[in-house]
Amino acid sequence: MTQIAFIGLGNMGLGMASNLAKAGHEVKALDISKDAVAKAVDAGCIAAKNAKDAVETADVVVTMLPAGQHVSLVYAGEDGVFGYAKKGAVFIDCSTIDVATARDVIAQAEARGFAMIDAPVSGGVGGAAAGTLTFMCGGTESAFDCAKPILDAMGKNIFHAGDAGNGQVAKVCNNMLLGIHMIGTCEAFNLAEKLGLDAQTFFDISRTASGQNWSMTSYCPAPGPVESAPSNRDYEAGFAAAMMLKDLRLAQTAASKAKAATPLGTQAEAIYSLMEASGNDGLDFSGVMKLINGTL
Ligand code: NAD
Repeated sequence: MTQIAFIGLGNMGLGMASNLAKAGHEVKALDISKDAVAKAVDAGCIAAKNAKDAVETADVVVTMLPAGQHVSLVYAGEDGVFGYAKKGAVFIDCSTIDVATARDVIAQAEARGFAMIDAPVSGGVGGAAAGTLTFMCGGTESAFDCAKPILDAMGKNIFHAGDAGNGQVAKVCNNMLLGIHMIGTCEAFNLAEKLGLDAQTFFDISRTASGQNWSMTSYCPAPGPVESAPSNRDYEAGFAAAMMLKDLRLAQTAASKAKAATPLGTQAEAIYSLMEASGNDGLDFSGVMKLINGTL
């Protein structure tokens, strides 16, 4: 049994913390929302009184927070993890945040003698609840080895992507590609329909031809061909357009710092911004089809 502090028990964190408790670990739960902590207690965790109480006896601290500023605050802030953690504690930040902040917080942890990895996830709320998340990890080999048994209780595929921050790099690059091929797939299905080719026939042809991609074959944005796709439930999320936009913005921030040309990533961000501006970013990200075909 490992003593774990889990900070950030929202949509994702709740399922992840529950799985750690189910695996027999002692999990102290901390969140600024009392409601979130109460749900974690119902799922087998122990309510922490404050940051000190959560962290001071923990072998491992796991965080699942909204954005970079929350991660900086929770670790390096006045009442933060760095001030209370015991010697030898390992930190795992599973939040999706900007690469620069991830690298900065890990460098600060290491300067204080702690081991830390960034470990953003894919798999969504369903994957968090089922314990089937994919983790993309960045950090030293030894930090990754310490974190791995804990990640195994929450996920199915655990990748070590290299040095600190590389988990975030893998996550934003993958999701930038996903946003781009989702929009491209919507354009192709919409054009096919306007030219008189129905979605199912186009799907049958294109999935065995060179246009084949995941957005089409597993998550088709045109209603019909893929039964489980959100397009068949009026684009109920799933993976919300707002979450896709967050990741596309992180990709643009990273691209601009790295001076990497991402013209299609820039376009994808602009297109998902229109979903946000029109108040439709609560739809699934495949709902960008409605923007493309003029039914939004
Ligand atoms: P969420 O908003 O539901 O949960 C975040 C939790 O953090 C909230 O309960 C909030 O109260 C808590 N929190 C904020 N500041 C805090 C602080 N200072 N101290 C303690 N708790 C604090 O978000 P979520 O959907 O669970 O997502 C969490 C992270 O996972 C995000 O970075 C997101 O991008 C990423 N992610 C989400 C999904 C998804 O489908 N929801 C998928 C993959 C990755």
